[in-house]
Amino acid sequence: ADEVIYWRLSEENERMEPAAWSTVSPDEPALFPEREGVPLVQWAGSQRMALAAQLEHGGIVVAAPVEEGDRLFGALSVTVTAGAALPDEELKNWVRRHGTHLGTLLGLLEVRHLTARRAADVRAIIDAAERIQGSVMMDTLARSVCETSLQVTSASRSAFVPWDAAAGTGVVRSASESFGLREGYPLGTDSLVARACRNDQLFVFEDAQRVALRTAVFSDTEPRRRIGSLAVIPLRRDHSVLGAIVIEGDSPRQVVDREVDTVRLLARVASLSLRTAEEFSRQHDLARKDALTGLANRRTFDERLSTLLAESDRFQRPVSLLLADLDHFKRANDEHGHDAGDAVLRHAARVLGGALRADIDLCARYGGEEMAILLPQTDLTGAREVAERLRTLLSSQPVRLGAREIDVTASFGVATYPASTGSRETLFPAADRALYEAKRGGRNCVKIAEVTGASTTL
Ligand code: GH3
Ligand code: MG
Ligand code: MG
Repeated sequence: ADEVIYWRLSEENERMEPAAWSTVSPDEPALFPEREGVPLVQWAGSQRMALAAQLEHGGIVVAAPVEEGDRLFGALSVTVTAGAALPDEELKNWVRRHGTHLGTLLGLLEVRHLTARRAADVRAIIDAAERIQGSVMMDTLARSVCETSLQVTSASRSAFVPWDAAAGTGVVRSASESFGLREGYPLGTDSLVARACRNDQLFVFEDAQRVALRTAVFSDTEPRRRIGSLAVIPLRRDHSVLGAIVIEGDSPRQVVDREVDTVRLLARVASLSLRTAEEFSRQHDLARKDALTGLANRRTFDERLSTLLAESDRFQRPVSLLLADLDHFKRANDEHGHDAGDAVLRHAARVLGGALRADIDLCARYGGEEMAILLPQTDLTGAREVAERLRTLLSSQPVRLGAREIDVTASFGVATYPASTGSRETLFPAADRALYEAKRGGRNCVKIAEVTGASTTL
């Protein structure tokens, strides 16, 4: 033969395209007679049989399918320009046999490739499952999902977007840097990800350029970038969508269907962990917050108090404690009922808690109708001012219960460490004594713990 060509079936399974040839010619086979040969090769592939054609100017072309079982990879062609050494029939048998042999080799190569890829996928998925299940906090979970999506695919970047089905909104929780999105970036209503979540719909664009993606992926204001391929995979639990994983490739076919299957598996693992993360954050709140008022509970207060006292010693900074006890609260309960009493408590918590420095001060429900307030880096003068401000604020806002209005006041005891007490342990008792004085002094007032010599306290 003068030229042998391996023809590969194109991805769309429509055409045979020369993939490798024996002649030294970089761009295309050197000798192949297109007009007579191409239809022959197509036909050999589609009919799955060896065929031969005599050429107009002498010579012969023989073509046979390259196949393995049901799978058609392409075709093999042999061009003989001068007289063939073998009769046509025998030539056809040769080419056919070589085609089958080649098919088997290609099949094996493909299996090996897939197996290696699958083994890597399976390992990555197992690692991911462990990592994701270990992520009880939402932000670590989001990061794990993104990182793992990149490990099990050839994608260039990934993002994780939890979805609030009730509100019909979602925000980006974690995203590769190359997206140029900040955490908390909100989805546009008509964005691809919002549509995927709203309609529980999987989007895969192996060639995003060919479909000329007209919708923004996240929102109209997202940074521009080259999107070659793209998939949006919804995360669902039971029948509702919890969020989506987005993977993108710079080039077409970088993100392909088969890889998306792997990410769907990942999405199943992640959706289970998402439930754990939500449950964990609920339990975390339950353990640290008071259920009635939403204020910090006693345990949180005690922990914060000892941290602040230690810091105070180390950095020579004062820390103040206010104790507030509602005045005649029993009366509110007795006259208006327990539910009204609860409403008064919630009101007082809202007023006091809302008037403090967010993320610095701590307002806790310490007992039934007793609030304890920690003011870091605040001296006695400052603490007295805060207490007076809180007292005035509370007494100026009666609580509305249906048609009734109930006046709410509280008495305050104030103490500062180290100014008003000699040791850490006596800060709380000092504030408590001041509170007692405030009650004795007629209620709805602020009393300061008297300054005592360090060694004579107690
Ligand atoms: P004083 O001005 O001396 O503080 O009088 P008081 O009535 O506020 O004081 P006391 O300690 O005698 O009464 C506190 C009441 O708070 C008694 C208790 O039934 C009520 N209480 C405690 N926790 C709750 C709660 O969660 N809800 C309601 N509604 N009442 C509560
Ligand atoms: Mg009390
Ligand atoms: Mg009271």
